[in-house]
Amino acid sequence: MCSLYKAHFIEINIALIVESGRIRNMKLTQLPIQYDALIIGGGPSGSTVGILLAKAGLKVLIFEESKFPRFHVGESLLPATNHLFKRLGIFDKIKKDFPIKPGGKWNFGDKTILGNFAWADQDNPFQDHAYGFLVERSKFDKILLDDARKHGADVWEETKVIEVLRDKFDVEGLVVQRKGEEPVTIASRMVFDCSGQNCVIPRALKLRRPTDIRRMSVYAHFKCKAVELRAKENWFVGSMIENGWFWIIPIDDEKISIGMVLPVEEFQKVKSSPEQFLKECIDQNDFIQRSLNHKPILLGKVHVNGSMGHTSEQLVGPGWALVGDSAYFIDPCYSSGVHLAMISGEKAADAFIEARKKNHVDLFSKLGRKYEQEMRTHERVVTKFVKMFYMATKNPLIRWLVPRANNSYLTRKFTNFTGGDFTRVRWLVNMIYVVHQILNILPIKNKVNSLRGADLNGIATGKWVESNTEIAMKEEMVKIIENDITQ
Ligand SMILES: Cc1cc2nc3c(=O)[nH]c(=O)nc-3n(C[C@H](O)[C@H](O)[C@H](O)COP(=O)(O)OP(=O)(O)OC[C@H]3O[C@@H](n4cnc5c(N)ncnc54)[C@H](O)[C@@H]3O)c2cc1C
Repeated sequence: MCSLYKAHFIEINIALIVESGRIRNMKLTQLPIQYDALIIGGGPSGSTVGILLAKAGLKVLIFEESKFPRFHVGESLLPATNHLFKRLGIFDKIKKDFPIKPGGKWNFGDKTILGNFAWADQDNPFQDHAYGFLVERSKFDKILLDDARKHGADVWEETKVIEVLRDKFDVEGLVVQRKGEEPVTIASRMVFDCSGQNCVIPRALKLRRPTDIRRMSVYAHFKCKAVELRAKENWFVGSMIENGWFWIIPIDDEKISIGMVLPVEEFQKVKSSPEQFLKECIDQNDFIQRSLNHKPILLGKVHVNGSMGHTSEQLVGPGWALVGDSAYFIDPCYSSGVHLAMISGEKAADAFIEARKKNHVDLFSKLGRKYEQEMRTHERVVTKFVKMFYMATKNPLIRWLVPRANNSYLTRKFTNFTGGDFTRVRWLVNMIYVVHQILNILPIKNKVNSLRGADLNGIATGKWVESNTEIAMKEEMVKIIENDITQ
């Protein structure tokens, strides 16, 4: 379908433009097809696709809306991504530029769970490098995008994709606009949508769906030092609260990323601005206070992500593939995002390279379906793990049991999983998920309230929110929530 269409691009393009209300009145310049693939977004998924296709000798063009370096959340990386850093040829650079993360520590109700990646089974893909990294994303994402350029990918920064040209489900080109310039159309043979949570193609094709995990997050970078034992050693430190959690991620000696995750409905009850909200959470939480050397000083702005937890009904179609967060985003707990973004980039790029060798015009082939199946397996198993975590935040029995049920076998297996080896131990995750579901339906007195007050010092949910109802809800917060819910 795609190739037939190309010869008649100009005529069809006019029809498509007339259909589109948004660009109907614009005069569009049409650029000739000179690329094997177009990539929307220059984050970790877009750069991974760009590097691998360029290395395979294909011509690619990446459109990136912002100018790098730019702020991005998601600083805690998993050891399972190391194999890909090696394949991309950037492992040594990452190791030189960023602190090594030995593992993760979770405050799990009254107990702490440690996951040191060095404890993982022998049989895992990160055996040689059993550590992750803590990265300042502005710097990390720029390293990847510069590397795509170095390998021959064309990169247009400050260029936004404003329209997807399509014939029903076939994606046939993009309308893009460089900062300060008129929009142009570019016909495509293949588009990789790596636009993160903007989900350009899923929104255009109406494939995007919220999941039942959907949560919201408020976060920022702060100037202060960690004094908490593990955080000082560059571990990821997370702490449960009812139905949510917060993180402390030391990025360098002077900078810490702090964020809160809660259900959207809890945030809707919050009557303060995001900045006030995060500040009050930090001020009221003993654990955060004890973990830092002095009152954290806000660096830059407080960010809000209003709708975490979405998927797409389809991951590939004629002339397009969804990669990274554009395909799905499960939840930030367990830090799976960058790993899934980059391995989906790797798998999608490899499928396309192979499809090209076999002379398929696009990924709508066996290879595309295989890519979708593999990424769905990851999605299902990580989703279960995340759901178990949220069940535990509401259920004292699970919280009591989980840290005590740890033995060396389970610890090894779960360390494999939390290191990013998601699919190999999925049988175990499936089994434990069933146990969690059973525990979750047992009638346990007071289960919903038990993480309030005592464990949490009243922070963020329940009592804390109720005590703040008199503060007028800031327009900014209302807008962010409504915007994300309607999209
Ligand atoms: C609160 C929170 C905490 C997180 N913590 C972690 C963590 O600790 N560890 C972890 O691994 N992951 C974490 N994640 C997830 C992680 O941030 C993402 O999974 C990861 O960044 C996805 O990479 P990506 O390349 O798919 O998308 P992104 O990194 O979002 O990149 C997409 C790029 O596309 C560009 N773009 C978007 N729309 C357009 C357009 N129309 N035209 C042109 N360009 C466009 C954007 O500017 C952006 O640069 C977290 C996420 C959230 C929300």
